[in-house]
Amino acid sequence: MHDSKTYDVVIAGAGPVGLFLACELRLGGATVLVLEQAEDPRAPLKRLPFGMRGLSAPTIEAFYRRGMLADITHVQPSSDKTASATTTAPHWMNQRRRPGGHFAGIQFLLDNVEPSQWPHRLPSPAGTNMATTMEHIETVLSARAQTAGVEIWRGAGVESFDQSADSVTVRTAGKTFKGRWLVGCDGGRSTVRKAGGFEFTGTEPEFTGYSVEVELADLDKLAIGRQYTATGMYTYQAPGTIAMVDFDGGAFHRTEAVTLEQVQSVLRRVSGTDTTVTNLRLATTWTDRAYQATTYRSGRVLLAGDAAHIHSPLGGQGLNLGLGDAMNLGWKLASVIRGDAPDTLLDSYFAERHPVGSEVLDWSRAQVALMRPSRSSRALEAIIRDLMATRDCATYFAERVWGVSLQYELGGGHPLVGRSAPDFEFTDGTRLGEHLEVGRGVLLDFNADAMMGEVASRWSDQIVYLALGAKNALGLSALLLRPDGVVAWASETKPEAGRAAQAAVRWFGEA
Ligand SMILES: Cc1cc2nc3c(=O)[nH]c(=O)nc-3n(C[C@H](O)[C@H](O)[C@H](O)COP(=O)(O)OP(=O)(O)OC[C@H]3O[C@@H](n4cnc5c(N)ncnc54)[C@H](O)[C@@H]3O)c2cc1C
Repeated sequence: MHDSKTYDVVIAGAGPVGLFLACELRLGGATVLVLEQAEDPRAPLKRLPFGMRGLSAPTIEAFYRRGMLADITHVQPSSDKTASATTTAPHWMNQRRRPGGHFAGIQFLLDNVEPSQWPHRLPSPAGTNMATTMEHIETVLSARAQTAGVEIWRGAGVESFDQSADSVTVRTAGKTFKGRWLVGCDGGRSTVRKAGGFEFTGTEPEFTGYSVEVELADLDKLAIGRQYTATGMYTYQAPGTIAMVDFDGGAFHRTEAVTLEQVQSVLRRVSGTDTTVTNLRLATTWTDRAYQATTYRSGRVLLAGDAAHIHSPLGGQGLNLGLGDAMNLGWKLASVIRGDAPDTLLDSYFAERHPVGSEVLDWSRAQVALMRPSRSSRALEAIIRDLMATRDCATYFAERVWGVSLQYELGGGHPLVGRSAPDFEFTDGTRLGEHLEVGRGVLLDFNADAMMGEVASRWSDQIVYLALGAKNALGLSALLLRPDGVVAWASETKPEAGRAAQAAVRWFGEA
């Protein structure tokens, strides 16, 4: 069967990245079809405890800038009333000093982090870190996408595709669809990546990781929290939530079903105890395989999220990385589809996001090096632990883990260029974040200069012009922001309309 409609974009995968990208493309005016393999969006692993996802500053800002933060922050009851019956609050909730995050399980403490070292940030309703669940994020994004007019087909896994000079034909088991573009957001084992012949390179795993919910015969044989042992690592949250890594070279992962016997055997080995597992409620495995696509575009086919890069869940960065891809790609692809910008604008998607992905992969590899069951790793861990107790080091790790150090290489200029714009509070009581909800660029002119107004009027379809005073303008006179809130140009001195126009041409095309 053939769907006669041609969509601007077909997205493979209704995970968080595919859904958020769909919302971004719709905001930019594109017609979007999302094809999702799974019939049912609900799954036990998307709920607590294993569905918990830490969100970092760029992700929280993205939700804030699209008017979704309240929905994401709002805690909804789980759709599964039996889920997590054995789960209590995370072990670190009982600590007197609250952790702000961790590196290989070594915590940095919130009261050690020095935000004054980030002069480019202003206080904002979008904080630097929070946690939610996969189920909740997908529910919010799916509702937003459908309200905006995105079509989502579930039970429609992409099997293959062909591309021509102006379209892509996408095949599922029962039906064929056509799009002007195809984006693979179909996760780590991406069919789009494989069928598209994208090169995928990286490092092989050192371990199999297990996340299990169990019932134990004896609750006091395992120590609470993260434990490094002579044979591996485990994290225990009473009464039965356990994560553990077994340095088997990744040999067990996906080779056979995870059984109670296997879990008990690995748990005994890595914990060095004779603990007995009486019931296995839920189990999943993962590895530290770290691979990345060497290009994110092949003609009319693009990759985003786990389809473009995979790494271990250590330090919780993959979702944030993928949502960052979507925020970066969405407005660019929509501009190209509208004909506002040449398709070379898409080159900046790879140029900006590939290095960020590469850094995250290395961040996860560095944690593996600290976790190995070896004397040298334990010695290194002790040194990092000492360093982490200092304010400078805690601030450095917070910067990396919360993503506040993110800066794209956009060719120099003001130190703010390439960074997320500070959330200015204007004299009319509004904040910058609210003005970004429409998904357009913003020309911020703190001095209401007539020449700047002239620049903005040339790109009035793509740019919102804000000639407003700010309570704290950080010494700036004007800024040009891309729709993703990234500073494209900034000036401290009298407005330089010519430079602002040059920056606008670069990002929004010839007016
Ligand atoms: C235990 C664990 C803890 C984690 N914790 C964190 C954390 O705290 N913070 C963080 O940032 N990240 C975390 N991650 C990583 C994060 O979950 C992933 O990086 C994120 O889900 C990637 O989103 P995605 O949309 O790219 O892919 P996925 O979430 O994998 O979604 C892909 C979608 O595509 C669908 N699909 C697959 N094949 C096809 C096909 N052929 N056609 C159509 N649809 C298809 C799938 O069914 C799925 O719905 C964790 C991961 C794990 C395993």
